[in-house]
Amino acid sequence: MKLHIVHLYQKEMNIYGDTGNREVLEYRLKSRGIEYKTTIVNVGDDLPMEADIIIGGGGQDSGQFLVQEDLLKKKDQLQKMAKDGVVMLMVCGMYQLFGDKFITSKKEEIKGIDILPITTRAGKKRLIGNVVAKNTYSTIVGYENHSGLTYLKDGSTSLAEVVLGAGNNGKDKSEGCVLNNVFGTYMHGPVLSKSPELADELLRRALKRSSPAYKLEKIDDSLEIEARKVAVNRPR
Ligand code: GLN
Repeated sequence: MKLHIVHLYQKEMNIYGDTGNREVLEYRLKSRGIEYKTTIVNVGDDLPMEADIIIGGGGQDSGQFLVQEDLLKKKDQLQKMAKDGVVMLMVCGMYQLFGDKFITSKKEEIKGIDILPITTRAGKKRLIGNVVAKNTYSTIVGYENHSGLTYLKDGSTSLAEVVLGAGNNGKDKSEGCVLNNVFGTYMHGPVLSKSPELADELLRRALKRSSPAYKLEKIDDSLEIEARKVAVNRPR
C-alpha cells in the first residue's frame, strides 16, 4: 500500500504555511507505517495521472495570474481525476481557481477550471483573521486573508458552517466547498495541522480507493487538539 501525494504549484501558491498541509498528510501516513511518495508539480511540469491526493495552496492575485495558463492546460486532466475520485484539497487562491472564475478588485478575470461549483469576485475590503467553522466530524480552524467573496452555486455543499470569521463571503456562514472527494477552503495555517479529523477524512477517502479493506487506525492527536484550542481562543 503506497499513496501518491501531488503538490500543485508549491512555488507560486504557498502562503501562511499551506505547504504544511502536505507535511501533515505525510506525518500521519508515516505514523501509521503507510508508505507514500510525493511529487511537486510546478508550472510546466507534467501532472502524474496516478495521484491519490492533490493539494494546492493560497497566493496573491499575482501568483494566481502566474499559474492560470498552466492550470488551464491541466484542466481536462484535473476534471477527469476529480470525476475518478482523486482526493484534492485546495486552499484560498487555488480554491478560487477550482471554481469558474475570480474577478479581482481591478475587474480582471482569472479563469478557473470548473471543478467546484463556486464563483468568486473581489469585495470592497479584505477579510482577515482566524476562522472557526464546524461540520459533522470536526471543528476546523484556520487563518483567512482574502479579497475574494465566494458563492456556492445552487445545491452545492460547503465544507463547514462558520462560527467565527467570514469564510466564503462573510454573509451566508458557509466555509469552503466539497464535491465528491474535492475539498476547497479559505483556511490557511496550515489548516490540517489543527484539524486531524479533516486530515484523516482525506486519507480515509484516498485509501478507500486504493485499499478498500484498510482501516485507518487512531493516532495520538493531543498536541493538534491543544493547538486548535489555542487558535480557537485567539481574538480575531
Ligand atoms: N488573491 C486571492 C484573494 O485575495 C487569494 C488570497 C489567498 O490565497 N490568501 O482573494
